[in-house]
Amino acid sequence: MADLAQSAERFRVIARGKLADPRIQSAIDSSTDRLRSHRVDAWDELGEVEERRSRAYEIRMRAIRDIDGNLERFRTALEARGGHVAVCATAEEANAYVVDVCKRHGAKLVAKSKSMATEEIGLNEALEAAGVTSVETDLGEYVLQLENEHPVHIVAPAIEKTKEDVARIFSKEEGVEVPPVLEEVTASARRQLRQVFFDADVGVTGANFVVAETGTVVTVTNEGNGRLVASLPKVHVVITGIERVVERLDDLPHLLSLLGRSATGQRLTSYTHLVTGPRREGEEDGPEEIHVVFLENGRRNLLDTKYEEMLACIRCGSCLNVCPVYRKTAGEAYGPVYSGPMGAVLTPLLVGIDQAPSLPHASSLCGACTEACPVKIPLHELLLELRRDLVDEHETSWFERLGFSLWSFAWSTTFGYRLSSALARFGHRWASRFGPGRVWASDRELPAFAKKRFRDSR
Ligand code: SF4
Repeated sequence: MADLAQSAERFRVIARGKLADPRIQSAIDSSTDRLRSHRVDAWDELGEVEERRSRAYEIRMRAIRDIDGNLERFRTALEARGGHVAVCATAEEANAYVVDVCKRHGAKLVAKSKSMATEEIGLNEALEAAGVTSVETDLGEYVLQLENEHPVHIVAPAIEKTKEDVARIFSKEEGVEVPPVLEEVTASARRQLRQVFFDADVGVTGANFVVAETGTVVTVTNEGNGRLVASLPKVHVVITGIERVVERLDDLPHLLSLLGRSATGQRLTSYTHLVTGPRREGEEDGPEEIHVVFLENGRRNLLDTKYEEMLACIRCGSCLNVCPVYRKTAGEAYGPVYSGPMGAVLTPLLVGIDQAPSLPHASSLCGACTEACPVKIPLHELLLELRRDLVDEHETSWFERLGFSLWSFAWSTTFGYRLSSALARFGHRWASRFGPGRVWASDRELPAFAKKRFRDSR
């Protein structure tokens, strides 16, 4: 499994490096700004934004609140059409299942389409350990695989790379000079990847949604690679979180229309692929065998808790594009898989808050993420809940707890409030030069306090 856990210091250290790199700052800034403005335009065109968000929330939460019933209905429907379904409690179980499928088919080459769930379980590493070569076919993921790096954005995994970076990487891989021109770079990717689709023994994809009513797997891509991966190899394995289930086929159009608009500003993502079972008699393409592997890996712990709404996420990436913290620190600081506000909430919930204590603090709590979310997940409120949990579970330093206890004590009386606010005017300059105050003020401007307090100016 990808190591989602991280020390309290990791975020700060990586973020500092990104902040000091003007090339990365410019790449993230322009890309996230473009994605954000496309989303805003696409939503404006649609209208009735709040009604549509509420409907999406209702569809997602209805499915999640009966998750076991829906998974069972999905299993019945897919098995009736000749597919196989497995529910895996851990990353290790899911990896073992896929490796076993590969071994039974004597597979040597796996073609993969972009999937955050497979990143989460570290599938490529597990396949490699079993002697199976796995090749990413999404352009951004392929670039990262060649560089041995992880995605830094859930929709645009290589968002920090410029066309010059990609041209350099492809030139090295192909052994010929690839100019930094978009058409040339794309042609190079085609030369490198096309044969992989034909040669692969097994195709692995994620799923954007799975439909309980019909046993249908839905994947959307802009490059068409997901469709090739799911159609050309003899075996198709789908790996997806248990929460990606929706009840009915009728729920799909609404969610797909919001997903495309929120992710990239498109009315619909270029390729929407619906698969219900393996190839049937008389059909010209499609796999002979299909396996759907549902991943729990900590998700079940969120059911019936104050964090349940996080399971409604449709991985559109909108919250990343508007987050002032993500837009400066970039994705790597959050860990190897989920980044931005959705990652700051989800990762601690999956691995345990003590394993990722810095992430709930990676937010200004401005609420832009909540406002951008097409399924109305109250992200900034969940971040606050996680901060409360950190305090309750004593995952904060004794110094911090003492400071906040004294503050709380002082402001619980009128006298204490007046005294502390009077002292603050004299003490804040001193506080910004020593101890934690100095660290806090090292990359912020500390404004001077007003000479007269508001309450004294009457
Ligand atoms: S939390 Fe909301 S905005 Fe963020 S990725 Fe998930 S669905 Fe999109």
